[in-house]
Amino acid sequence: MPRVLILGAGPTGLGAALRLAEAGESDFLVLEASSEAGGLAGSVVDAQGFTWDHGGHVQFSHYQVFDDFMERALGSDGWLLHDRESWVWMRERFVPYPFQYNLHRLPAEEKWQCVKGLLAAREAGVTKAAHFREWILATFGQGIADTFLFPYNFKVWAHPLEMMSAQWVGERVAVPDLTRVLEGICRERDEVSWGPNSRFRFPRHGGTGAIWRSLARALPSERLRFGATVASVDLPRRRVRLASGEELGYDVLVNSIALDGFTKLTGRADLAARAAQLLYSSTHIVGIGLEGQPPEALRTKCWMYFPEANCPFYRVTVFSNYSPNNVPRPATTWSLMAEVSQSAHKPVDHASVVDDVLAGLRATNLVRESDRIVSRFSEFLDHGYPTPSVARDAHLAELLPALEKDGVYSRGRFGAWKYEVSNQDHSFMQGWECATRILAGAGPEAEPTLHTPGVVNATYQARR
Ligand SMILES: Cc1cc2nc3c(=O)[nH]c(=O)nc-3n(C[C@H](O)[C@H](O)[C@H](O)COP(=O)(O)OP(=O)(O)OC[C@H]3O[C@@H](n4cnc5c(N)ncnc54)[C@H](O)[C@@H]3O)c2cc1C
Repeated sequence: MPRVLILGAGPTGLGAALRLAEAGESDFLVLEASSEAGGLAGSVVDAQGFTWDHGGHVQFSHYQVFDDFMERALGSDGWLLHDRESWVWMRERFVPYPFQYNLHRLPAEEKWQCVKGLLAAREAGVTKAAHFREWILATFGQGIADTFLFPYNFKVWAHPLEMMSAQWVGERVAVPDLTRVLEGICRERDEVSWGPNSRFRFPRHGGTGAIWRSLARALPSERLRFGATVASVDLPRRRVRLASGEELGYDVLVNSIALDGFTKLTGRADLAARAAQLLYSSTHIVGIGLEGQPPEALRTKCWMYFPEANCPFYRVTVFSNYSPNNVPRPATTWSLMAEVSQSAHKPVDHASVVDDVLAGLRATNLVRESDRIVSRFSEFLDHGYPTPSVARDAHLAELLPALEKDGVYSRGRFGAWKYEVSNQDHSFMQGWECATRILAGAGPEAEPTLHTPGVVNATYQARR
């Protein structure tokens, strides 16, 4: 096997390393800048003893291999199972998600605008969309777009929706089932997504990061170096230089560092200029630890979406509901975690973001005036979401093959920049499949997650 260096010990890097280890290979090394594994899927404990993920992390899986590793990471006792209860807070009320099947909860005029828009979309019969905004309109119609999807998606993505492609949501425009929409309205019945097939699991202890810390320990200790920051990469000589000055050679490099930063490390101005055109948004994570117990309305909720302008966040997770061990004293403390997006199109005042989130939590009735706050946690993730921009695939079609010519496979959430395959399971499998390809000396067909995201994601529906 060629000598392999793996940059980053997040899900992608660990997926690659575990594949090589499983094949009995030992000529590989993982280099990780921080002191712990997990990357964006890691967890931290604050000074007050509250555990926080870097944003609300939920386990989905499209792969048996991934499921097997989750079991191996924490054992069958290490998980808590939850019904996926997600809601939208708007017009001073909770609407169950999916929004389009629960329109009966809206005021009468909005209900009508949503139905009218759906009927018009069906009538128009548009089958292709040039960008995400057009896709929303063609799929859901003007009413649902104006009421929920336009404001909500701008809050999440922090980019005008015309700048985003329609491809990542699936090629096809499919108008929602009108009978189901109308039945929900006429019967005034909630249609909820948390039936028996909509369960997810969460680590009993240690947050999401516990998974990746455990899997990192499954590697031989000499195959993984923490505190090893890559400072530059010499592509022609196939050598990596660490911040410490040490140099390491490789035959093949598996990179999970964000493509824009990585290409700068290579000193290749042409690649760096191209990668700089990939769009992304940043994410503020604000965790609020509280004394007491959640109000009745939040006792079983997992996360909530917020399309309105009365709060800065797009999503809040009742993080203490994921595991009682996410708080220092389960009987007397609970926690909320809010996410706020940022980009040049949607600036955020860093100095006031925690206070702004708190004001928003009060405006949306999640936190009451009488609640005693015992912890305020905040962090800024410069690279939070890889934006599926209209030009993204053209940039990737230049960048990834150019790097591969020099023996570099750039994979993972920001390594390959494909949002639709950037969750933990996808990232882990991008690393895994890349290592499989290296071991077999195979071609791109060995990496279905990277090259055919639509096919891989369709298997999720089939496996449910
Ligand atoms: C707000 C938010 C919510 C999310 N929600 C979910 C969810 O609900 N479910 C889900 O499955 N996934 C979720 N994810 C995605 C999940 O976090 C990613 O899938 C995963 O972390 C990506 O793994 P990765 O290995 O590709 O990259 P990362 O996790 O980014 O790992 C890259 C690693 O490279 C290291 N590194 C960087 N620079 C250097 C350097 N110069 N030298 C050496 N090492 C370096 C970093 O320290 C890091 O450990 C979410 C992500 C965010 C930000």
